Amino acid sequence: MRTHDVFNQVPPIAPFDNSRNPALIESLHREGAGWAEAEVRELGILAGGTEAQEWGRVANEYPPVLHTHDRYGHRIDEVEFHPYWHNLMDVAVSHGLHGSPWQDDRPGAHTARAAKFYTWGIADAGHMCPISMTYAVVPALRHNPELAAIYEPLLASRVYDFGLREPSTKAGLIAGMSMTEKQGGSDVRANTTTATPQPDGTYRIVGHKWFTSHPMGDMFLTLAQAPGGLSCFMLPRVLPDGTRNALRIQRLKDKLGNKSNASSELEYENAIGWLVGAEGAGVRTIIEMVNMTRLDCVIGSATGMRAGVVFATHHARHREVFGKKLVDQPAMRNVLADLVIESDAATTVMMRLAGATDRADSDPAEAALRRIALAVTKYWVCKRAPAHAAEALECFGGNGYAEESGMPRLYREAPLMS
Ligand SMILES: Cc1cc2nc3c(=O)[nH]c(=O)nc-3n(C[C@H](O)[C@H](O)[C@H](O)COP(=O)(O)OP(=O)(O)OC[C@H]3O[C@@H](n4cnc5c(N)ncnc54)[C@H](O)[C@@H]3O)c2cc1C
Repeated sequence: MRTHDVFNQVPPIAPFDNSRNPALIESLHREGAGWAEAEVRELGILAGGTEAQEWGRVANEYPPVLHTHDRYGHRIDEVEFHPYWHNLMDVAVSHGLHGSPWQDDRPGAHTARAAKFYTWGIADAGHMCPISMTYAVVPALRHNPELAAIYEPLLASRVYDFGLREPSTKAGLIAGMSMTEKQGGSDVRANTTTATPQPDGTYRIVGHKWFTSHPMGDMFLTLAQAPGGLSCFMLPRVLPDGTRNALRIQRLKDKLGNKSNASSELEYENAIGWLVGAEGAGVRTIIEMVNMTRLDCVIGSATGMRAGVVFATHHARHREVFGKKLVDQPAMRNVLADLVIESDAATTVMMRLAGATDRADSDPAEAALRRIALAVTKYWVCKRAPAHAAEALECFGGNGYAEESGMPRLYREAPLMS
């Protein structure tokens, strides 16, 4: 029995071009990375395509699964992902979102990468976590030049090569960081994990970590108490002899959002680590990685705000209320304008800080600006993201509260970056 016609429902948004964003493109040129516009445009079309939007949706509907043991009872500590997760990672890595500035001497390389990261991130937020950590690890790893010489080219490689194998045999690597323990995450000096020096120069690491994202990464920077104090170590998941390092995944976190990404609790059972930086300089060393991820927290929150704008304005352009399109109702126009202004501001400041990152090495004023403005901006933009997402969701009315609109996913993601 046909009871009614369906009308006044909004058509699917995909495909759309996520690079149609004047605030982004103008700041790309202003910050000296106009040369990257073609690739940003390419990623904008890819990210808004029906395929990538579906990858993101499904990778969050079917979150990763931990397998502590194989069918025969051997300990394996592996996480299985939906194939769409790997598609997302493949696009991100092949476009250098995880490491292009470390290989590219052109002025504006960090700015170009920020614009690409932001443009592609609308496909899925979760996979941007390991992408960000791989980008961020390089400055810290350089505190051990021998390790950096081996790992840096593979960390910057544009080949996504998933699976636990000896790092030097792989075509590309993904990195992670493992700092937070049960008793303290901000206060990492409270870490209790120990590192005991071995005659061959390595250290035996014993302890636990309460939050380690993407445990299928190839290598992790971690903090542990060595004889000389809290120190930074590099732990590969697979050792040079091909055996697995003793990193045991206890369980995966059941998180509010960020469902596509696996975040784990780990135990180190005499795992083997290599010292990065001096003994006792752990915080000073790993803070270089933390600082780079701070920039990505701003980019990630700006990406979410942009998603809210794109989805809410699409809805308002098509939905009719009281005889007019929503977008033509003065009160809704006001709300949308506020969303756009805040999103454009976040985009602009994110690009300014990426520009400061590019110029910090040669310009002390830019280094000083970056030092202060990055922390303040990270606080402010990340703090505003949940309120922005809630407002964008409300533009959809009840439809925004329904999972299939995609807005609950955006809303759940929003508090993470703070
Ligand atoms: C999805 C997700 C993924 C994560 N992935 C990783 C990962 O890969 N590796 C990793 O190491 N960690 C990871 N973390 C953990 C994260 O880094 C910590 O949660 C974070 O550092 C805060 O530490 P905490 O949770 O112990 O909170 P606490 O340090 O206990 O802080 C609790 C609250 O107190 C506030 N606070 C802290 N110090 C002060 C102070 N001096 N004055 C006033 N307020 C203060 C904090 O801002 C916070 O609001 C992840 C977390 C999430 C949610």
